[in-house]
Amino acid sequence: MHEMGLMASMVELLTESARHNQIQKINKVKLVVGKMSMALPDALQLAFDVYKAEGLFSSEAVLEIEERETMGRCRSCGRRFPVLDNCLFVCPDCQGIDVEVISGRELYIDHYEGEDGNADDD
Ligand SMILES: [Zn+2]
Repeated sequence: MHEMGLMASMVELLTESARHNQIQKINKVKLVVGKMSMALPDALQLAFDVYKAEGLFSSEAVLEIEERETMGRCRSCGRRFPVLDNCLFVCPDCQGIDVEVISGRELYIDHYEGEDGNADDD
């Protein structure tokens, strides 16, 4: 399950960033995951649960995942269209096959929320 490795790298990034921002515990992490990224949201959730046991996260920490559809843009006519099947890159207008992927490969941390040392009733 390569999501485990992905999560390991993300936890590394988060640890680094949290330290930099003096954040003690992370409460929420939001990921953007494209349909073509080959990362399965369910597997990412499972991996997150494993890492949640570590000190970086609060016990109620949640992982939020925004899935992005695969979108293509036809280089011949400029039409943008959702690619329903990840293998079918054909323009619905001109049947062109010179299609650029403009969305769907994303895999990144959109943002995270955490607590710094000072309690805040927000
Ligand atoms: Zn086209």
